[in-house]
This record gives sequence, structure tokens and C-alpha cells, in this order.
Amino acid sequence: MSHSYDVLLRHGTLVDPENGVHGVRDVAIREGRVVEVAPTIAGTAAREHDLAGRVVMPGIVDMHVHLSPFLGGGCGHRMLALAGVTTALDMAGPIEGVVDLAARHGCGLSVACVNYLRPGHTIDSDNPSQHAIDRALTHALGQGAIGLKLLGGHYPLTAESTARAIATAASRGAYVAFHAGTQSAGSNIEGMREACELSAGHPLHLAHINSYCRGQIHDAVQEGEEALSLLAAHPHIRSESYLAPFNGVSGECIEGVPGSRLAIFGLERGGFSPTRAGMREAIEAGWALVNVERDGVIELIGGREGVAAWQARDSQIGISFRANPPEPRLRLVTATRDDGRYAVDALATDGGGIPRNDIVARGLALVHLDALSLEGFVRKASLHPARILGLSNKGHLGIGADADITVLDLERRRPILSYAHGACVLDGDSVVGDGGRMVTTPAGEACIRDAGLEAIVVEPDTLLASPQ
Ligand SMILES: [Zn+2]
Repeated sequence: MSHSYDVLLRHGTLVDPENGVHGVRDVAIREGRVVEVAPTIAGTAAREHDLAGRVVMPGIVDMHVHLSPFLGGGCGHRMLALAGVTTALDMAGPIEGVVDLAARHGCGLSVACVNYLRPGHTIDSDNPSQHAIDRALTHALGQGAIGLKLLGGHYPLTAESTARAIATAASRGAYVAFHAGTQSAGSNIEGMREACELSAGHPLHLAHINSYCRGQIHDAVQEGEEALSLLAAHPHIRSESYLAPFNGVSGECIEGVPGSRLAIFGLERGGFSPTRAGMREAIEAGWALVNVERDGVIELIGGREGVAAWQARDSQIGISFRANPPEPRLRLVTATRDDGRYAVDALATDGGGIPRNDIVARGLALVHLDALSLEGFVRKASLHPARILGLSNKGHLGIGADADITVLDLERRRPILSYAHGACVLDGDSVVGDGGRMVTTPAGEACIRDAGLEAIVVEPDTLLASPQ
């Protein structure tokens, strides 16, 4: 028997703000695209789902994740698929590792990557010249990345070269994302203020706004308000924030002392000594949680089991602290500007291989609280990030759009089904997708194809556009 469609999603409540739809609709998919949306669609499909009582939304786009050998490794793809994500932006690279992991561990997601500028890795010094930045950008694009990531919070460059990198990316229409912080300002609200100045009117993705509002300089609530004023005054800056209380740092201790400044900060905040012994006590007490792999996903584990995992790796393992106070986290997701648009463009996670892929779990909690409308949730979790990434066929479910779809169980705040390019990725609790595709620019297309991956080519210049 020949079917009219590949897939039919029936009776779900479709929420598609781009096309002004909020109501019960059937959605038909053929050859990876949405081909019909109507209250009732006649005909049959090879696969049909009855989604009465469920919410059907354009596939979730998480514009801040980690899918690299350094962070999360191969688990990240599966973790994102389980979280209902269909498209993600890796926020560090290295691009070669991200492509390799996508080819080996892909679950059907579309992945974009910004490649880091890091002394000793992609540049020679912490004050790279225009020429050195240009060369690093050419390399990144040629390998399939869409632009650059400035890792100021971890490996700060000089303020001058940070500004040069942002301007260089802009001159070539490339993407540039920045974890605020330079050699002159920390990864805090002061660093955020400096980042806004250094952007000098060029398009920029400023990462995880909530992480600059942890109460390091002023009161956390006051810092949240300051972050909102800064974004309002710099409308060329694209932004995201995340909702998880947890950060993610290295648990490594060198000569009895944690190597990461954020780990020391985390221990002190919990009343533990900033030493190897203090770290052990904090893990045992459940204040510091170890990122442990279990059944193909990474989980946060404390207590004796956490200590054992940390010791087994000789302390070289990820640790998460409850570093993010709740008030700025919640405020940054729901705040709007004077004209009604969202102050922070997108809801992201900084997850992937780091276990905080909670766009659905925590984002829908705000919908339950009536702090965020369902349309607002779809805008921040799909439409806006798709636009910022230059993906005009994603973020909505109009005719001809990519069949990237996430289906939600609102009551349980869980994704129960997802499709990417018409292929099932998540079915109930099972990840069934495989393979994958990379979002790339024309300069990286050949490299992505050579790696055995499908390429979604975006034009430079369409990146970092205003999403709302
Ligand atoms: Zn990150």
C-alpha cells in the first residue's frame, strides 16, 4: 500500500508563533519536510501518532551546548536527544572533535559549532593579531565551524584582541560567541559590561547571561537587573541564559589544591576548605556533584559513589556546584523589554555533555507558574535560536519547513517524541535516531561531507540576525 505521507502527527496542540498557530492541528511530513498543516488531514502515512492532549512545537534549538571530546564526549548527543532537542550549537569545539563525535555518536540532530580561540591551540598568544585571528577563523570555517568562540571565562585574551576578534568575525559575516571575561575583567557582571563595550556595535552572541549574575560583585538580584539594562542598551547583542542551578567545572586538584578558580569559589560558598580534602568532603556531603557516566548518559552523583568516581579518575573529572542563585535565573528568562520583546533572546542550557539539558523540564515549570506563556517558551526554545543561527527552515512548522518537531507532555514537563528532518529521534524514553548533520557555511561544506555527514549550509551574513 502506498501512503500519502511519511509521517502524520494527529490531534496534537500545535504551538507555532511564527505562523500564528495555537490549536489542534494535524501535521503531515514527507521527505523530511512539513507538507501540510490542517485541523484534519485525510490520507495515510507509514507512521502515524495520535497526539491528543500533547503539545507539538518546532524542534527545540539549544544554542549553547558542549559536544566535544573535552566536554561530555559522545554522551552529549544522546543526552540532547533525550531532552527533546533537535538542533544545537556547540560552544567551544574543537571543530574536528565535534565533527568526529557527530559522525560516530550522532542521534539525528543538526549541530553547529563555534571553534575556540585559545592560546597554544588555535592561536599562539593571548594577544593575537588581526592576522592570527583571521587565520584561525579561516581554519575554523574550512573545518565546518560557523565562527569563533571566545572563552574569556576560562582562557581570557587581552581586551584589545577580544575586540579585534569580534570585529574580524563581523567583517567576514561569521558567527562569534563570547563567554565574557578578558585579562582586564572577570567572568562576572563587570566582564559582561566590558563585553558589551568591546563588541563596539558588531553582532555578538553573549553566552549564558545568568552566569554573570551569581552575586560575585554585587547582590545577585541587582546584577540580574544590571544585565538586563546592558542588553537593552546594546540591541546588537544576541543572548541566552539557562535555568539550571548547577555550573560545571573541572574537579582536578594539583598539589592538593583545585586547579579551577570556579571550583575554589564553589567550595568556599559551601563552607568547605579550598583544598583536595575540602573537595572530597564537599562531594561526600553532596554539595559538589561529580559528572559520572552511567548507561550512556552523564549524571550528577554525590556521596560515596561520587567520591569513588572522582578518585578513580585521579580528580580529573567534571564537578558541578549549585552556583546559580534562583532569582536572576528566573528573571532573565521571563524579562521583557519596553516594547514587549524578550530581554534575553533564547533559553539555552550550556548542557549537551554537561548534565543540565533542562529546557523542557525547567522551562515548562515557568509555563506552569504562568511566568512564561507557551508561545514565549516556543519562541525562546526554538524560533529565536533558529533565527540567530540563520536557519530559516527551522524554528517554525510552516509548509516547506524542516520536519524538526518536539512533542511535549505538559503535565510531566517531558518531551515524549521528536523528529529531525522527518526521521524519528526520540520515541518515548528511547533514542532511536542516528547519524547527523552539521550546520556549516559554504567554506566548510566539503569537509563536512568528507566526514560522512550531511551539511546544512547557511550563508555567512545571515548569522546573528535579530531574532525578534
Ligand atoms: Zn558553555
